[in-house]
Amino acid sequence: MAKKDYYDVLGVSKSASKDEIKRAYRKLSKKYHPDINKEDGADAKFKEATEAYEVLSDENKRAQYDQFGHAGMNGGAGGFGGGFSGAGGDFGGFEDIFSSFFGGGARRRDPNAPMKGDDLQYTMTIDFEEAVFGTDKTINIKKEVSCDTCDGSGSKPGTSKKTCSMCSGAGRVSVEQNTPFGRVQTQRTCPTCQGSGQEIEDPCNVCNGTGTKMEDVKIEVTVPEGVDNGQQVRLQGKGEPGVNGGPAGDLYISFRVRPDKRFKRDGDDIHYEMPISFAQAALGDEVKVPTINSHVMLTIPSGTQTGKTFRIKERGVKNVHGYGFGDQYVKVKVVTPTKLSDEETEIFRKLAELSGDELTEQNENIFDRTRRFFKGD
Ligand SMILES: [Zn+2]
Ligand SMILES: [Zn+2]
Repeated sequence: MAKKDYYDVLGVSKSASKDEIKRAYRKLSKKYHPDINKEDGADAKFKEATEAYEVLSDENKRAQYDQFGHAGMNGGAGGFGGGFSGAGGDFGGFEDIFSSFFGGGARRRDPNAPMKGDDLQYTMTIDFEEAVFGTDKTINIKKEVSCDTCDGSGSKPGTSKKTCSMCSGAGRVSVEQNTPFGRVQTQRTCPTCQGSGQEIEDPCNVCNGTGTKMEDVKIEVTVPEGVDNGQQVRLQGKGEPGVNGGPAGDLYISFRVRPDKRFKRDGDDIHYEMPISFAQAALGDEVKVPTINSHVMLTIPSGTQTGKTFRIKERGVKNVHGYGFGDQYVKVKVVTPTKLSDEETEIFRKLAELSGDELTEQNENIFDRTRRFFKGD
């Protein structure tokens, strides 16, 4: 069963303040607390509200929930392409790629142990429609790949590594240092073999003994339907090659979405400004409103004011995690005519006389009433 939206659970809007959230939760917890309410299902309701409150009352958790929904709440499960992780960071320039230092801490413990390769980060700029409907893209990146001449070993094919001449295979060397407190002996990682205890005797002449080389690589990227600006996908194993037989790192693709001229996006909702004429606003009309898919007919009631917003349910963006569709909001903008024909001028003049009388009448009434008030009759 799909999980209920946390905002719906608490009955607050997405823009609710901290206080509103607190109040809403207090109300619900009074209503459903198992000590107070013995009805069937009250306990579940109480737990649901508590869970929602725990997330929405915490600024970080709330931001993550706003961006990724429930999937963002349990370590990125339920995403696509093998995971979905927090984004929103500022990743340097556009379309650039660089190594990130995920999990670099435990790196130097055993230099001969298999290690996962570094993760890579890539920022992809896509069009509004591509984000809304999803697409397949191919990117070209320059990245480190395993040298196929030496199979990543760094040794010229047919040769092998030899025991390090500096540390005799120990991987560590002793260094004596003079300090103000006397002579101190410390152990350091061997600078020749970087601790592996082995040395390349005859380096591979393609990679100069590094075991890797830079190459232009084409990678297929599936842009998921409904993805939003700042979100990212993980392509497992598409990062830098592993060391000592370890797995390759991952490639994170972070999306930047170019804005659209007509539609503004807010999460899964679409905002659209609809120009209508003076007459349509006054008399009402049925208008054709474009949506991201095609269009819908919208009834404008007579007497509609400029700025009035109508909601068209489920005509927004499909949620990237499959939680239904957003809505489209249509804000009406009454356009005042700039060029009038003689006939129109005549009609507006007539209209001005009529509504002018109406306003004058209203003003007189207010004046009369005010005067009566002060005179006391
Ligand atoms: Zn090589
Ligand atoms: Zn050594």
